[in-house]
Amino acid sequence: MEHKKIFDERINDLVEHIEQPKKREKKEKPNLKESIYSLQLDELKQWLKEHGEKPFRANQIYEWLYEKRVKTFDEMTNLSKPLRDQLKENFALTTLSTIIKQESKDGTIKFLFQLQDGYSIETVLMRHDYGNSVCVTTQVGCRIGCTFCASTLGGLKRHLLAGEIVEQVVKVQQALDEVDERVSHIVIMGIGEPFDNYDAMMNFLKVINHEKGLNIGARHITVSTSGIIPKIYQFADEQLQINFALSLHAPNQELRQKLMPIARAYKLDKLLEAIRYYTNKTGRRVSFEYGLFGGVNDSVEHAEELAKLIKGIKCHVNLIPVNYVPERDYVRTPKNQIFAFEKTLKKHGINVTIRREQGSDIDAACGQLRAKERVHETR
Ligand code: SAH
Repeated sequence: MEHKKIFDERINDLVEHIEQPKKREKKEKPNLKESIYSLQLDELKQWLKEHGEKPFRANQIYEWLYEKRVKTFDEMTNLSKPLRDQLKENFALTTLSTIIKQESKDGTIKFLFQLQDGYSIETVLMRHDYGNSVCVTTQVGCRIGCTFCASTLGGLKRHLLAGEIVEQVVKVQQALDEVDERVSHIVIMGIGEPFDNYDAMMNFLKVINHEKGLNIGARHITVSTSGIIPKIYQFADEQLQINFALSLHAPNQELRQKLMPIARAYKLDKLLEAIRYYTNKTGRRVSFEYGLFGGVNDSVEHAEELAKLIKGIKCHVNLIPVNYVPERDYVRTPKNQIFAFEKTLKKHGINVTIRREQGSDIDAACGQLRAKERVHETR
């Protein structure tokens, strides 16, 4: 299919996902342009060919985008003026504008970006001893409905385009360019459910992983899902070296479906079957995220039950002390109880870590900044 048509379809899909399309007049539909960052190198070559240009120009454009990280098409000085004009006409180079950039004492930087159609999303840069990690958003809002999460409070507004996800990383890299640092790791753990926007997520992965793109190694990328079973199988079959995390949060079906409504559709036994398929197929371990919600799922008995549940699965458990969300009434687990939980898992030979808290002084936990700043959204 001609590429222009594919992009048009993507945009149409996207516009259809926008909430309450029927209530809005046709002319009010946002005039979104495809982001140039959505294009894989081959797609760009194809597009150039279709527009009477030499395919090698794609390499030059990629260099401008990902090596030199220019902010306008006019800076692409080795391209002809007509080609630059054509690019401008067909693609957006900037689809995100920075509304807020907050820096925490620990070096964490949180960005609130506004999209072309007025919605806002957030992206977080975390400084670790092993490198700089960017936490990207995949959707405006979320429809999964986890009872503890701020990202799902207003529901799903729309999916992001692959390019809008790539551009989050580019924007953070541009900020790091000023201090001569590099984005080395990516976690797909911002707002949204990445497996609910699977194709865009995959295209995003291809661009950031490509050696001529941002060249971030697969082993430095982690994707996390709430547990959409069919997509776990699909992802396993991609046979990528990307780290894979599952938000488990409970040691049994009953409790899990209280915390995460999605568990009613995708039952725990079937979910673990899919996880075993993943570990067998890829030979890689899975990371289980387990939020500790005070008095809900954080007793030593729960830890024992969890150990039994995941016994024999090649895995690692990441314990996340609950992030306070004002609209939710979960409370923190006392420190000694967190350690008791950890110790119980260790006793059963399970690899376990407790997530270090970062940026708590700047609302850095998932969806918190957007939830607080939604007043800025112009739609
Ligand atoms: N939708 C994906 C990506 C989100 S990743 C997923 O569900 O996996 C963010 C992680 O933080 C998930 O494990 C999520 O369940 C968890 N999380 C969300 N809100 C939280 C909160 N208030 N406290 C602790 N963990 C939370």
